[in-house]
Amino acid sequence: MSDRISDTANKPLWNFDYQPRTRIVFGVNVVERAGALASEIGAKKLLLVTDPGIVAAGHAARVRGVLESAGLEVTFYDKARENPTTECVNLCVAVAKAAGIDTIVGLGGGSAMDTAKGCNFLLTNGGRVQDYWGVGKATKPMLPLIAIPTTAGTGSECQSAALIVDEETHQKMACLDPKAAARIAILDPTLTLSQPPRVTACTGIDALAHALETAVTKKRNPLSAMFSRESFRLCVSAFPEVLLAPKNLEARGRMLLGAALAGLAIENSMLGAAHAAANPLTAHFGVVHGQAVGVMLPAVIRFNAADPDCCRAYAELAAAGDATCANDGDANTCEELAARIDALLSLAQMPRSLGECGVERNAVTNLAEEAARQWTATFNPRTVTKEDFAKLYEETFKRRPVPVS
Ligand SMILES: [Zn+2]
Repeated sequence: MSDRISDTANKPLWNFDYQPRTRIVFGVNVVERAGALASEIGAKKLLLVTDPGIVAAGHAARVRGVLESAGLEVTFYDKARENPTTECVNLCVAVAKAAGIDTIVGLGGGSAMDTAKGCNFLLTNGGRVQDYWGVGKATKPMLPLIAIPTTAGTGSECQSAALIVDEETHQKMACLDPKAAARIAILDPTLTLSQPPRVTACTGIDALAHALETAVTKKRNPLSAMFSRESFRLCVSAFPEVLLAPKNLEARGRMLLGAALAGLAIENSMLGAAHAAANPLTAHFGVVHGQAVGVMLPAVIRFNAADPDCCRAYAELAAAGDATCANDGDANTCEELAARIDALLSLAQMPRSLGECGVERNAVTNLAEEAARQWTATFNPRTVTKEDFAKLYEETFKRRPVPVS
C-alpha cells in the first residue's frame, strides 16, 4: 500500500507535522490588551525591544503605557535596526541581563522581532548567535516572547526563526528553534497605519513573495498551501489599496493578517529561489529585502512554472486571489501571475530591474554562486544551479516595458 494519500482532486496530500505555537490575537486596538495578555503568561519584568522609528511614531510609548498600567516593570531597548547584526543582538542582551527580565516583547518590523529572538537565544542559552545558526540548536528553555508587528510583511511574529547578520562575513544566518517562536502575536492594524510609503511597499511585496514562494516549495503540504492561498487572497487585493489609501484601516488589517498567515506558511513550507537570489543583493549592494525579493519574483515565477506541478500550484494560488483568469490554462495563468507582480512593483514605484537597484552586471557570477549556496534555494521546487541563478539575474537586468494594470 502506498504511504501517500490523495485528495478528491487526485492531488497528493503530502505528509506534515504541524504544532501551533503562537496564540494570535487580531483586531483593531487589541494592543490595549497587551498588559493583560502578558500577565496571563506570568510576566512581571519585561524587555521591550523596538527601534527609533517606532518610538517616533508613538507606538513604543503606547505599548509601554499599556504594560505599565497592568503593573508590569518595563525595560526599554530602542536600538534595533534594519538587518540586525550579531553586534546589535549583543547590545540588546547586555541590557536584558542587567534588568533581570522574565519576558521579551518585540515591537516593530521584522528587525525588532529578530533582535528580540536573537537576544532570547543568548540570554537563555549563552554563547554567540553563530551557535544557533541552523535548526534546533538551543538546548535550554527560552523566555516567553510577545510579538507585536507594526509592519505587514515579514510574518516573523508567526515564525520560530531569527534572522541575524554576521557582523564580519555579512552572512544572513537563520536561527530556527521551536522555542524561539512567539508565545503570543498581537496583530493590531492601527499600529501599521504609520508605515511610510516605502516601508508599506517593501514589506507588502515581501508578504506577497512569501505567499508565492511557500505555495510551491518542495516542503509544501496541504496545511501550508491553505495558509499560502489565504495569505495571497488577502494581500493581492489589499496591497494596491494600502499603496493608494494608506489610512484605509480595513485594507491595513487584511495586509497584516495576510502577512501573518504567510509567516505560518513559511513555518510549514520554507521559502524558495527569490529569497535565495535576494540575500546576496542585500549583502553586497545594500538592496532592501522587499525590493530584492520583489525584483527577482517575476523571473523566478517564470522559471518555476516550467515544472507542471509547480505551474498548477501557482494557478491555484492565482485562482484563490482572483488575480488572473483561472480558465486560461495553467501556463497562461502563470505568465499572467508574473505580469501581475510586475504591475504591482510598478504601482508601488519599486525597482523592476537590477540596474535600477544599483547592482553591477559584472557581479552576476559571484552573486549566482552565493545564491546557489543559500539554504532557501534547497526548498525551491525546481533545482536551481548557479548557472540558473546567473540566468535569473541576467533576465532581471532587462528593462521591461511598464505593464498596464
Ligand atoms: Zn522575505
